[in-house]
Amino acid sequence: MLRDEYAPARIRAEPPEEFMFEVTVDDTFAAGHYLRNYKGKCEKPHGHNYKIRVTLAGAELDKAGLLLDFKDLREVMRHVIDRLDHQMINEIEPFTIINPSAENLAKYFYDESNQRLKSVTNGRVRVKDVTVFETDTTTAKYSE
Ligand SMILES: [Zn+2]
Repeated sequence: MLRDEYAPARIRAEPPEEFMFEVTVDDTFAAGHYLRNYKGKCEKPHGHNYKIRVTLAGAELDKAGLLLDFKDLREVMRHVIDRLDHQMINEIEPFTIINPSAENLAKYFYDESNQRLKSVTNGRVRVKDVTVFETDTTTAKYSE
C-alpha cells in the first residue's frame, strides 16, 4: 500500500512540461548546398527551395491576447533566413564544418530563433519545434 501512496507523489514532483498555446509560421528561401561524407545525388552542389516551419509554445498570452504576433515570429525567422538566402550554405558558419543537412538546418533554426525569442519575451515563449522542408514531401524536424 505504501508503494501506491509514494508513486503518485513521485510523478507530481516532476510534471511534464505542458503548453496551452502554439503559434506556427512558415517561410521560404532558396539556397545551394552539398553533403560531405555522403554517396549519392546530394554530394554534388545543388539547390533547394527550402520551407521552414517554426512552432512556438507557451502557457501565457500577452496583453493583446497573443502568444506572439505572427509578424514578430516572421521577423525572427527572417534574421536567420537572410544569412542563408541565395547562398551556398556550405560556405556559411557553422556549415563550413557541420553538414548542411535538413536535420542540421532544423537544429540551427531552432537554436538561433529560440535564443532570440527567449530574450525578447523574457522566457514566456519558446520554440517548440522546427521543421525543414527540403522538398514538398521530405522534411526533418528538431525539438528539445
Ligand atoms: Zn540537397
